[in-house]
Amino acid sequence: MIAEERIEKLAKLAKEAGVSGEDVRAKRYVHLARKIAQRHRLKFPTELKRFTCSKCSAYLIPGRNARFRTNNKCVVISCECGACHRYPYKKRSRKMKDGKKI
Ligand SMILES: [Zn+2]
Repeated sequence: MIAEERIEKLAKLAKEAGVSGEDVRAKRYVHLARKIAQRHRLKFPTELKRFTCSKCSAYLIPGRNARFRTNNKCVVISCECGACHRYPYKKRSRKMKDGKKI
């Protein structure tokens, strides 16, 4: 599908621009990729979701424009615009019928 290819290509370009310090260009690529995903009702790729800010569309690079911290449940990513994103990495233990944990 063309839309998916475009999103992949924009993700690659955004990464290159972000790494080389062209923040405005990276923001534009991320914004375009998100708009294409919304228009075609596609899932925004997880890798891109984790490394972009949903508030300001910045491509996040740890130590430069973002802070990555972990606690015992999730990764907390703080963008320099002040937005904060939390992604869980620990699976919740499900209780079985007899009350024992798996
Ligand atoms: Zn931001």
